[in-house]
Amino acid sequence: MSDLYLKFVNTPIGKSVVQSLSLPSPVNLERWQRADQPFVEGHVLLGAGPEPKAMKVLADLISNSAATLYYPDHVESLRASADLAQSHKANSLEMDNIGEQRRFKALVFDASGLTDTTQLRCVYDFFHPTIRNIGRCGRIVVIGTDPADCTTAAQAATQKALEGFVRSVGKEIGKKGATAQLIWMAPGAETQLESTVRFFLSPKAAFVSGQVVRISKRDGKGRTATNNIAPLTGKVALVTGASRGIGESVARVLARDGATVVCLDVPAAMAALEGVANSINGKALAADITEPNGPKAIADYLEEHFKGVDLVVHNAGITRDKTLGRMPDHFWDLTIAVNLTAEELINDELMKRKLLRSNGRIVCVSSISGIAGNFGQTNYATSKCGVIGYVEAMAKQLKDGITINAVAPGFIETQMTAAMPITIREAGRRMNSLSQGGLPVDVAETIAYYCNPLSGGVNGNIIRVCGQSLIGK
Ligand code: NAD
Repeated sequence: MSDLYLKFVNTPIGKSVVQSLSLPSPVNLERWQRADQPFVEGHVLLGAGPEPKAMKVLADLISNSAATLYYPDHVESLRASADLAQSHKANSLEMDNIGEQRRFKALVFDASGLTDTTQLRCVYDFFHPTIRNIGRCGRIVVIGTDPADCTTAAQAATQKALEGFVRSVGKEIGKKGATAQLIWMAPGAETQLESTVRFFLSPKAAFVSGQVVRISKRDGKGRTATNNIAPLTGKVALVTGASRGIGESVARVLARDGATVVCLDVPAAMAALEGVANSINGKALAADITEPNGPKAIADYLEEHFKGVDLVVHNAGITRDKTLGRMPDHFWDLTIAVNLTAEELINDELMKRKLLRSNGRIVCVSSISGIAGNFGQTNYATSKCGVIGYVEAMAKQLKDGITINAVAPGFIETQMTAAMPITIREAGRRMNSLSQGGLPVDVAETIAYYCNPLSGGVNGNIIRVCGQSLIGK
């Protein structure tokens, strides 16, 4: 479904109309274009508070991209970054004299060493002189320490405070199509940062903003991928609901990244499903995931054709909207069965038969309705909030390098949202920091990031792909 307003406001006449009427003015978001595209280009400013933990990892990563690395010159506590600057040929930047012309593609700040609330001043000192220089579709990434791992209340308060900062600054820069994220590391998890920093700095995270991701030290066994163009080479993926919409896009993006994809959908969608599968050299599997024999049939197929599976994406989902008092019981039952119970049963079957391989990835699709609740969607929100509970519990149980995470899409331009009444559709599109709907590919890119072999420390997270929707937390 095409967003005509977005197209209009990006024409010369549209720009002047929205300016004079003070209407929202969404920008065309930059998205990933080509396989050899660097994850970040342009000027990147890297700063830190006292005792930063991740500066070397960050400086290595950014200086190996197509970006030009800068560090602020005037903060004494940044001696560490000054040393790094020498070894990484970074440029010193006079923070008092940045000028209006310089545009930053990204501002990256390592706040992982902050232990005391008075030290939050360094966040202001870094961002205050630079925030207005963030460019179109720019990126802010803040690195912190997970409050769950903090040893004092003061440290936990300081680190938690970063969440409020990032969520607010995301709202301030959204009109430029720019985004802000917080990464909370567990102690010693610096080496697990790479895939997350790459993702958040890249155009792949175009519609993700105001998010907090926790990175654990957990299991470095999967850190074998150096192939950034096709990191999923050799992996077998199962994607449910793959004949159209978000599922189709997930199948295409995982195949782009090198995976062999088993595309699953209901038998009635077989023609479209085969079209998708054939176009990506994948396989089409017709199955209803709620059939009593469904999980066994899926496991049999994966065993017979591939002796197992590496990536399982539970995307298939339905809505059956009605206010609770008017909702027939089969609306309730089917929504819970498709959106929640089937995921558990498929995973149980795959794991009982040891078909999910070491360093496997399970990704579930939740929804912001599951986080915020939605009128007329008690069944849907129940199922999608259940997905979050399932992911959080399973993340603690999985072994052998296997991770489980979820995405929670907001308003995504699909057949589902195209069917909404126009007023609700327009409100859904504009009520986020980026003032537009996302595309299926935005959800797919987030799923591909979870699936990356370098994302072994990313476990139990729920990332909202919603342009920082105003609803929910
Ligand atoms: P869609 O309706 O276009 O696609 C869903 C697919 O799931 C369909 O191909 C359908 O045939 C398949 N499916 C349904 N029941 C099935 C079953 N029993 N067995 C096998 N396949 C089945 O929806 P979409 O918009 O692409 O959404 C994909 C996922 O994203 C869903 O889980 C949805 O709840 C979630 N989501 C979407 C949005 C959005 O804005 N589009 C927002 C939040 C969450």
